[in-house]
Amino acid sequence: MLVQAATGNTSVKLDDVLWVKASGKWLAHADREEILLPVSLSETLSRVATNTDPAGQTAIVGGVALGTSVETAMHAVIPHRVVLHVHSVNTIAWAVRADGEHNLRQRLAGLEWAWIPYLSSGLPLAGAIQQAVTANPNIQVFILANHGLVVCGNSPHSAEALLRDVETRLALPPRATPEPNWDQLNAIAERISWRVPANPVVHALGIDPVSRHILGQGVLYPCEAIFLAPRIPVVSRFITAQEAEQSDSACLIIEDCGTLMRQRQNPVEGLTLAGLAQVVLRIPADAPLACLTPAEVNDLLCADVYRYRQRVEGNSLDRLPFPPAPGGAPPVELR
Ligand SMILES: [Zn+2]
Repeated sequence: MLVQAATGNTSVKLDDVLWVKASGKWLAHADREEILLPVSLSETLSRVATNTDPAGQTAIVGGVALGTSVETAMHAVIPHRVVLHVHSVNTIAWAVRADGEHNLRQRLAGLEWAWIPYLSSGLPLAGAIQQAVTANPNIQVFILANHGLVVCGNSPHSAEALLRDVETRLALPPRATPEPNWDQLNAIAERISWRVPANPVVHALGIDPVSRHILGQGVLYPCEAIFLAPRIPVVSRFITAQEAEQSDSACLIIEDCGTLMRQRQNPVEGLTLAGLAQVVLRIPADAPLACLTPAEVNDLLCADVYRYRQRVEGNSLDRLPFPPAPGGAPPVELR
């Protein structure tokens, strides 16, 4: 509900050292492997000041070479010592709505917070955050449109307490949907050689007409386009194996039945799909949506995405939905 796979990142500033999450590492693995690396805070800030992205600085931690997250600039420009950035399902369900900022005024009343319009991760997003904290250095909650949540504090405990407070204020109940017809789904999956995800929540995307209507309006947030498809196909239960193979998507929504995924075992795709379903089930049918524009989606689906996926997924993909564009930029983490 807070992060999916390698999304989200955390940092702490100790004197002039910024400890920030490494690109591609999972917050869920923080108690069993090194996920943070130290970089110079003043050096990072001077890079930001000269419009040079500080992402990708490297250090050896515990014998492993780590590189700083693409969101390093954002962590550096926030004055608080501890910064927690999550792709919270509840926050995203508000942050994709055209009326999200208006609705959150009441829910976040009493907190110092700011709504940050959608900007790509890295220097553009960090620039908007820096502007917001220059205007009001007390801001501790940032709602990132079509992206997620940032909370900060001067200690890990105060930041965590604030995260829980915001999560409680933004909590939305998911729409109830019936269980999928597993036999029917298994039969379709077998016929087209795809697989049936075990997590029941993802099947709501096929069974629930409101969810299908929401997904049909466009891409809600970057991970959806990067890890699943720019547009997830909605198909009938009579789809053929050949038709399924022509899709460039990691998943297929089978109308009134559920959702199928490709045979490859890819935890990132599965977690992204589950997160998407949790978000969509929290958006009412009549909510005005602010989907990413076609230009914003195109920006996401560049060569960097291909490299990012390879890094996050350990080169385990047998087939990537988006071929790398020639002459792309060096690898970056997208969130
Ligand atoms: Zn993010």
